Amino acid sequence: MKEFFDCLKCKECGRTYPKEAFHVCEFDFGPLEATYNYHKIKKYISRHLIESGPHSMWRYEPFLPLEGSPTVGLHTGMTPLIHAQRLAKALGVKDLYLKNDTVNIPSLSFKDRVVSVALSRAKELDFHVVSCASTGNLANSLAAHAASSGLKSYVLIPADLELAKVIGSLVYNTKVIGIRGPYDKVNRLCSEIAGKYRWAFVNVNFRPYYAEGSKTMGFEILEQLGWKIPDHTVICMASGSLLTKIDKAYREAIICGLVEEKPYAIHGAQALGCNPITAAFKKGTDLIRPVAHPNTIAKSLAIGTPADGYYAIQTIRRTGGFSEDVDDHEIIEGIKILAETEGVFAETAGGVTVGCAKKLIEKGHIPSTSQVVLCITGNGLKTADVLKDHLQPIEVIDPTIQDFDKIIDFEN
Ligand SMILES: *Cc1c(COP(=O)(O)O)cnc(C)c1O
Repeated sequence: MKEFFDCLKCKECGRTYPKEAFHVCEFDFGPLEATYNYHKIKKYISRHLIESGPHSMWRYEPFLPLEGSPTVGLHTGMTPLIHAQRLAKALGVKDLYLKNDTVNIPSLSFKDRVVSVALSRAKELDFHVVSCASTGNLANSLAAHAASSGLKSYVLIPADLELAKVIGSLVYNTKVIGIRGPYDKVNRLCSEIAGKYRWAFVNVNFRPYYAEGSKTMGFEILEQLGWKIPDHTVICMASGSLLTKIDKAYREAIICGLVEEKPYAIHGAQALGCNPITAAFKKGTDLIRPVAHPNTIAKSLAIGTPADGYYAIQTIRRTGGFSEDVDDHEIIEGIKILAETEGVFAETAGGVTVGCAKKLIEKGHIPSTSQVVLCITGNGLKTADVLKDHLQPIEVIDPTIQDFDKIIDFEN
C-alpha cells in the first residue's frame, strides 16, 4: 500500500513530515495526520474490491497508513451493524442501527482497530517495545495485540480503573503501571517517557497511525448500510479522535467514489462529569476548558484535556450536528434500555451514546423520520459493577416445585 500513503502533515500549517514516529509539528505544535494520494486510491478501489477483501477492518487497507501488509490484528473489525427496531421504537426514531464494537476482536472494544494499525506500523519501523496511556480499553487492546505479536508492552493507567479493565490487561502478562491521578497526568508522563526511551506509544508518538484505525468503523458503517451515508451518526468522545475519524472516513468514501455525497450530521456524546467538548460546543466557543477532576462512571471517556476536542467541535459544527451530555443516572438507563430492547450489553460509554441519542431525538436535533447510527464502542462486562444496585435482585428459593410456583407470575 506504499503507493497510497503519502506522508504525515501538520493539521494547522500543512508542513509535511516523513512517515516516521512523529506526532507534532516542530513549528506550531499542530498534530500530524496521515495523508494519502486519493487520485491513486480512486483508480484502484471499488466496492467490489472491498467486498471481496478479508472479513476484517483490513479490507480498507488502501486507506490505512502502512507501507507493507498488516501484521497485527488480522481478525479485528467487521463487527455487526444491527438494525435496532425495538430500540428505535423506544427512542421514537424511524430507522436506527447499532455499530456493535462490544464484540470486537480481540479485546471487545473499538480500540482493537487503532492498536492494530499502530502496532503494525511499529513493527514496520522496527520498534520492539510498545506502550500507551489509557483509560482502560486501550490498555486491554494493546496488551492483547502485543502478546499475540510477540512485542514487549507496558501500559499506564489511572490507578482507580475498573477491576475488569485492570485484569483485562494483566492477564496478557503486560506490565501494568497505575498512576495516582487522572488520565491527563498519565498522558503527560507518557510524553516524557517517549522522549527518553525508544518505545512506540500508540497514542503519543504513534498517534497519527493509531488514529487512522478509527476510520474503519466509519467505512464499515457505509458498506453495511449498502454504501450509503447515514443521516445521523452519534459517537461518544474521550479525546474526540474517533468522532473526527468517522467523519474522515465518510469524506474519503465520497472523494473516492464509494458513496454518493449527501448531507449528514455527526453528533458528539459525553458524560456530564467530564464534558469538556460538549461544554465548549454548547457555549458556542472553540476554546476547551480542561476538566481537572473528572467525576463520572464512564471512566473510559474521562479525559479532561481532549487532544482532538477542537477538531471534534469543528466536525460537529460543519456537519450540522450537536454535542450532548448525560449524567450517571442517564448512563445507566442507557445501558439498560439497550440491553432490554436489543440484547446488547454495552459498557458505560455505550450508555453515554444511547442516553445522548435519546436526548438528541427528544430535542429534535435528530428528526424522528431520519436514519441514525449509534456507535457502541465497548463491552458491558468490563464495567458491570456500575449496575450492581440498579437491577432486580435474583430470587433465591429452595429446590422445590412449591417454592418455584410461588415466585411465578401467573398472569404471564
Ligand atoms: C477510547 C474510547 C472511546 C473514544 O475515544 P476517543 O479518544 O474519543 O477516540 C469511546 N468509547 C470507548 C469504550 C473507548 O474506550
